Amino acid sequence: MITSDRLTKRYGDKEAVSDLSFTVAPGKVTGFLGPNGAGKSTTMRMIVGLDTPTSGRVLVGGMRYGALRRPLRGVGALLDARACHPGRSARSHLLGLARSNGIPASRVGEVLETVGLTEVAGKRVGSYSLGMGQRLGIAAALLGDPEVLLFDEPVNGLDPDGVRWARELMRSLAAQGRTVLVSSHLMSEMQETADHLLVIGRGRILADAPMEEVIAGSSLNAARVRTPEAQALERELRRHGLAVERGADLEPDELIVVGATLREIGDLAFSHRVPVHELSMRRASLEQAYMELTADSVEYGAPALSQILQTPSTPKV
Ligand code: ADP
Repeated sequence: MITSDRLTKRYGDKEAVSDLSFTVAPGKVTGFLGPNGAGKSTTMRMIVGLDTPTSGRVLVGGMRYGALRRPLRGVGALLDARACHPGRSARSHLLGLARSNGIPASRVGEVLETVGLTEVAGKRVGSYSLGMGQRLGIAAALLGDPEVLLFDEPVNGLDPDGVRWARELMRSLAAQGRTVLVSSHLMSEMQETADHLLVIGRGRILADAPMEEVIAGSSLNAARVRTPEAQALERELRRHGLAVERGADLEPDELIVVGATLREIGDLAFSHRVPVHELSMRRASLEQAYMELTADSVEYGAPALSQILQTPSTPKV
């Protein structure tokens, strides 16, 4: 369990993390999301004692990280996969970490096996690809068999097979009752991996809720209705204050309705004797829900593509 109580971090005038209070529960994968500069890395660094809070505190299993006698046994973290000496081999890097944390050397072979690096464990880390470096970072996080695991962008550089492997690993760690906090910018991947979401923007919490709840909050969740009496049903739906869409890109017998359950729409159609040929939910994706949630918090946004494409590329003479 990770508990943060009014956690705040300022760098000069800049408040990177503002008054964050949250709990990351065991037995689940919690996705940690937010635009660039939202404060995710700063929060993760404070969890593992690499940064000191300006005020507030964050505890791991009820203790400050600095108070853990053998930190790797309490918390495993992948924060920066390049954080090891390029001239050393993966095996010697992990052996060094194990020794300094009272972890038996036999554990090194186990984690190398888990991450699939056994065959290249004697090679210089400097010769590793980005994906292999990530696997080594994950091995280091697993080394102390900790109850709490933090992964900052763990699937960076992994191929599709590796991405699936990382997802299954995180899900199995959570299923063993561990606390798993993982940040990622890949929303479709996160939707497959996380049970719960902690979304921050400009250092503040925007959502702390189960995945389903975050997606249900999107205005893009809508019902699709097909009826031969689309006009009549549209009139009734609007009379009940519901937003109805009937655009050129829809079939003539198709309506999109926002803000009502399928049951409400079905009952309304029935009470007006309107036959319904299809009634289904068009569910928003996590990406869509996330974009809506963070729309006001994007610090380094790119201009819309349409804006770029409309800009004349050749100067007028
Ligand atoms: P994220 O990981 O969500 O992208 P960060 O935690 O890296 O966000 O950064 C949060 C904010 O704090 C950003 O505006 C960033 O520029 C600033 N920041 C992070 N680290 C430092 C630092 N060491 N010194 C000054 N500003 C920092």
